[in-house]
Amino acid sequence: MGMKRDQWRRHSRPVLKTKRWQVLRQIVLERDGWACVDCGTKRGRLEIDHIKPVRSNPELAFDPANCATRCSSCHTKKTRIECGHPAPIRSPERDAWAQAVADLATNPNPAT
Ligand SMILES: [Zn+2]
Repeated sequence: MGMKRDQWRRHSRPVLKTKRWQVLRQIVLERDGWACVDCGTKRGRLEIDHIKPVRSNPELAFDPANCATRCSSCHTKKTRIECGHPAPIRSPERDAWAQAVADLATNPNPAT
């Protein structure tokens, strides 16, 4: 997870610091009506999400069509999925389920 975070820093940070990004950000916010495209909230901190991640599609970093307004909670959820972490956040029930699936994979016929 730490490595994923470093990757995000390396690829997204230089983009987010530019004047060009600040302008694009305004355009995307206006287009999306200053609301999260997932849950529709207008409260809280709105972030601009790259639909295709900058790390895999750097050429789309400044393309408004590749940007969407998301609240920080929806943005975090989406980023977690992109980084290979299923949403919602891990819970004991989920871990038990994952273990059951793993057991099934190693022992496809647990009844025997
Ligand atoms: Zn949202």
